[in-house]
This record gives sequence, structure tokens and C-alpha cells, in this order.
Amino acid sequence: MTVGIVGAGITGLALSQYCRERGVDAVAYEASADPGGVIGSERVDGRVLEHGPQRTRLTPEIEALVDDCGLRSDLLVADTDLPLYVYADGRLRRVPFSPREFLSTDLLSTRGKLRLLAEPLTGGARDDETAADYFVRKFGTEAYHNLVEPLFGGIYGSDPAEMPGKYALRTVRKMERSGSLVWAAVNRRLEGKERQPPISFADGMVQLPRALYERNADRVELGTAVERIVPEGTGYRLETEAGGRTVDHVVVTVRADVAAGLLADVDAGSARALRRLYYNPLAYVHLVSEADPDGYGYQVRHDDPLHTLGVTWNASLFDRDGVYTCFLGGMENPGLVDRPADELGHIAAEEFETVMGASADVVNVTRHPRGIPAYDGSWTAMESVDLPEEITLASNYAGRMGVPARIREAKRLAERFAGADAANTAPVATTG
Ligand SMILES: Cc1cc2nc3c(=O)[nH]c(=O)nc-3n(C[C@H](O)[C@H](O)[C@H](O)COP(=O)(O)OP(=O)(O)OC[C@H]3O[C@@H](n4cnc5c(N)ncnc54)[C@H](O)[C@@H]3O)c2cc1C
Repeated sequence: MTVGIVGAGITGLALSQYCRERGVDAVAYEASADPGGVIGSERVDGRVLEHGPQRTRLTPEIEALVDDCGLRSDLLVADTDLPLYVYADGRLRRVPFSPREFLSTDLLSTRGKLRLLAEPLTGGARDDETAADYFVRKFGTEAYHNLVEPLFGGIYGSDPAEMPGKYALRTVRKMERSGSLVWAAVNRRLEGKERQPPISFADGMVQLPRALYERNADRVELGTAVERIVPEGTGYRLETEAGGRTVDHVVVTVRADVAAGLLADVDAGSARALRRLYYNPLAYVHLVSEADPDGYGYQVRHDDPLHTLGVTWNASLFDRDGVYTCFLGGMENPGLVDRPADELGHIAAEEFETVMGASADVVNVTRHPRGIPAYDGSWTAMESVDLPEEITLASNYAGRMGVPARIREAKRLAERFAGADAANTAPVATTG
């Protein structure tokens, strides 16, 4: 079997690596001249700036890739006990991650804490409710506004009130199987799953995709956009400017609107549906400041009059020489991303000073009109996506977002392809 991979972001690169390890023939096409997709890091005046994920977690899969790629000496591991904050009512307030922190947190009143502890008595997720309905029902209004909305909504720059639970709560539904979310979270902590530390690399997150590319350069074609995916015989032809190649199975890792364009000849209805998926616009501003706090950073409570969604403290996480990354826009304020770069820089620096009490200089402003999947009502379009089984959508919008989840999916796919290869080449049993 030959697998054709469209895109060499972390999903496409990890899949190339896992296919190689399992002896599965695979080729990946990447439109850009550089591997890594949304993972991108650069040095400006000696400082590492992240243009995408600011960090990931040291999951067992990522740790194995780090070692396979010889990146151990460049690995930066942050302290798992660093605090995370929510900015609410004019102050940074620590998010509780342990029973002791829960008792002492000022993010919840005593009444709010008691309501949250009643969670095991509430019912499970329902298909017809939004993520907001669900969390309010489970934890109460106060915990929803002060914790869930800024933290859960903050991951996607989305408003949980606009996110259908059916799509947005897949992970939560798995946690529910143990009966209670609070109990599942405590269990995860006891089992050490929450202790997988935040990581990056000396030259930034991009070192992982670059190293994966180097190990698979013979099967990854950079600067080669796939223009169309066309049915051919029992397989599919990935058409590129130079010709392309026919493969047995296609894995599409590109954004939904790009996938829609590529798949129009395979299934026009699926292509139309994919085009409907909405992405939240996002801007980020890299700041340099002498503020010297300890922690991951903060998310801003939605009713607070700041434009900032949240700020990652790269300086504290990975000793990044005064670097802070401020995120703006999202579903709450999509038009903001269209404002001039210097205006966005000014907003980020001014609001940083309000929260941190320290001034900051702007070193970079980046705007993404289609920044991050919104997982909002437009996701009902996924019901109309019906592709042949030889075509797999493996991307944020079709599965879980985040580097660990993308790598896990790549591994599962390679295992599946290796299994299919083995089944096809197994000797046929004869009798007599
Ligand atoms: C701003 C931001 C912050 C994030 N923060 C975090 C974080 O802190 N931690 C975390 O774990 N995750 C984070 N994520 C999520 C994480 O980055 C993604 O889940 C993951 O990187 C997606 O990888 P991918 O390979 O699936 O997709 P992509 O990285 O989008 O890769 C798709 C690739 O396809 C290529 N392509 C497009 N069109 C074509 C074509 N026609 N032919 C060939 N190739 C094509 C693109 O150039 C790209 O390289 C963040 C994402 C964003 C956007």
C-alpha cells in the first residue's frame, strides 16, 4: 500500500515517521518551503518567538520522538507546578489545580465551591446542549464564568455558548465515563497524566518538525502543493504542478477550506460542507518586558473590559529572555484582527501594563484571519462529510486539536495502514 499525505505540518510529518518505522510506503506533499505547518519559531535579536504553539506536553509519544530525533539535549522542560492565572475584577487570580489550592482560591466564593463540588450529582452531556449549558449545569454559573469560560473557551478563542456540546465536548465525554468530571480530574492527577510537563526546545517548537523532516526528507516533498485529489482506478491521484502520484490511501491534513478545494472531484457534497467550517480570527503580539513573574501566564475573564484573550509567559516557562505572547481577537472580537498592526501592538502592550504593572515593548505582530477552528455551530456541517474510506481527514477540525493529539492520531493511522499491509501480504491458508 502507498499512503499519500497532503501537508507536512506535525500531523503529516509524524505520520511519515510512523509509516517509515512500520515499513509502510508513504509520500507527503507540502505546499510551503518549510516543514511544520502552524508550528514556527524564529529568533529576533537572539530571542526565540513562537508563531503557533507556545509549548506542548511531554507525552510518551512525544518523548519517544524527541529521542528518535536526537533532540534530548535541546529539550526544555518547564516546571509542572508553575501557576496559571485568570485575570478577573482587576487582579490576577491563581487557578486551583489541587485540593489545597481549591480551598484557598479567590476565583470562587464558598457558595461557588460548594456548587462545583455537587458536580457528581449532575447528569451527563447531552447532544442538544452547548458547551456553556453543559458546564453551567455541571459546575454552576460562578465556576463557569471564572474558570471554564476563560480556560476552556480560551484554548480555541471561542465562546462556549456558541460551541455545540456534541463536537466540543468529546474529551469531556470520555472523562465522564468514570462518573464524575471532578473525580476524573483528581484521578488523572493521581495517575500522573496531568504531570506531563510543558516542553519546548532551545531553538523553539519548530525543532521537532524540522528534525522529523530531516529523518524523512526522502519521502516529504517541500514546495509542492497538491492541487487536486482525483479518483483513479482503485486509488487516488494527488495532482501537483510537476505531475504528482497515484496512491492507495490519502490522508488530508490541511485546513478545512483548503481540503474542500482539493476534494471537489471526490465528493462535491463533502467539499461544500467542509467549506462551511468557521475558524476564529486570531492575532498575537510578541512583547518584551522586564516583568518577572513565575507561571504559565493568564487568561482574561470574558466580561473583563480588556481586548486581550490571554498571555503566555514564555520568559518564565522556558527562560525566554523577557518574551511574552499576547493573543487577541477570537470569537469575542473577530474584527480586531483587521486593525493595523501598530494598533494591535499598542493595545497588547497597554493592557499588559494594566495587568502586570510593568511596561512592554512590541517586537512582532502577526494576524491570522483563519487562526483556529471555532468548533461552533458551523461544525454541524461535519454531518454532511461523507468521504470514501480511502480518504482520511486527519486535522484539528476533524479530530482533536493540539500537538499531542495530532501525533497520537498519526500513530494510530500508521498502525492501521501497517495492519492493512500485513493482512494483504499474509499467506493464504490452504487445506489438504
Ligand atoms: C495560534 C495557535 C496556537 C496553538 N497553541 C498550541 C499549544 O500551545 N499547544 C499545542 O499542543 N497546540 C497548539 N495549537 C494547535 C497545534 O498547533 C495544531 O493542532 C497542530 O500544529 C496542527 O498540525 P497539523 O499538521 O494537523 O496542521 P498544519 O500545521 O496546519 O499543517 C498543514 C500543512 O498543510 C500544508 N498545506 C496547505 N495546503 C496544502 C496543499 N494544497 N498541498 C500540500 N500541503 C498543503 C500547510 O502549508 C501546512 O504545512 C495551536 C495552534 C495555533 C494556530
